Amino acid sequence: MNPARTPGGAVLMDGEALRDRIVARLRGTVEAAGGPRPCLATVLVGDDKPSHIYVRWKHKKAEEAGMLSKGVELPGSASQAQVEDAVGAFAADPSVHGILLQLPIPAALDAERVLALIPPEKDVDGLTEASMGRLMRGLPGHVPCTPLGVMRLLEAYGIETRGKRAVVIGRSALVGLPQTLLLIRADATTTCAHSRTRDLVEACRDADIIVSAVGVARLIGPDHVKPGATVVDVGVSRVESKIVGDVDFDAVQAVAGAITPMPGGTGPMTIACLLENTVEAARMLGAFPPA
Ligand code: NAP
Repeated sequence: MNPARTPGGAVLMDGEALRDRIVARLRGTVEAAGGPRPCLATVLVGDDKPSHIYVRWKHKKAEEAGMLSKGVELPGSASQAQVEDAVGAFAADPSVHGILLQLPIPAALDAERVLALIPPEKDVDGLTEASMGRLMRGLPGHVPCTPLGVMRLLEAYGIETRGKRAVVIGRSALVGLPQTLLLIRADATTTCAHSRTRDLVEACRDADIIVSAVGVARLIGPDHVKPGATVVDVGVSRVESKIVGDVDFDAVQAVAGAITPMPGGTGPMTIACLLENTVEAARMLGAFPPA
């Protein structure tokens, strides 16, 4: 990759460009196989606007990758049984290889019970107990898309992790915890910070790599960042109808060695990894040739 740079000279880690390369590669793989196309199925409950946008993009990019996709949309008033039936039908359908339950679902519903219906092979979001257990044990399985996308960005931009110090901010099962595990597996000495961390600047300022997955606009400023460090922004906040990350981009880009934009960094990579996982799901189910 011949990277663009920010005005301050940091490498701009372009998630859209990398996503497009991955989508093109997947399309080549799907066309070369000439057989059944991997199929992603989504279940969307309620009228959360960002969720609708994310799901639309997932279908659009699946199509660009030459894959099939289908989706069920249920109203926010849907019962637990209706949501479970939708996921259960995809679980039983041999033409569906990957199932994505778009989170969050309305608070009145039990997301855990719905996720538990997704077979591990079809769990392309990597969020079920089985997938999380496999990740923890180092066994083959699906890895959550957002942290996996961060690892792909680090690899693509040649960011060394071995022996480096990394800090992940956030400890959710969706992002922070699997991200911490993936960085440890990539040989980084990794700290996980969270809302009870006493001094976040102190926790971050010796890090070679910072991944922030919080959702507090512009939480991370130049004081948190060692000169030359890599800063990856996962957090999404809406400020005056604009999307803003956890990282104060304008200030931090002047200090960082590499940085992701928000939007245009980790979001597109989440979709790219979802599609990678769907092809892998079809392989696990014996419906697609091995890599
Ligand atoms: P979450 O479940 O709300 O977790 C947020 C984490 O941030 C928690 O662990 C929380 O600590 C920690 N935190 C909150 N305030 C903090 C503070 N002031 N200092 C340090 N840590 C703090 O959210 P999530 O699902 O992990 O998502 C995190 C963010 O990433 C959200 O903005 C979400 O929209 C975004 N996201 C982006 C993508 C993408 O593709 N870019 C994908 C998924 C999610 P405690 O555990 O102590 O409460």
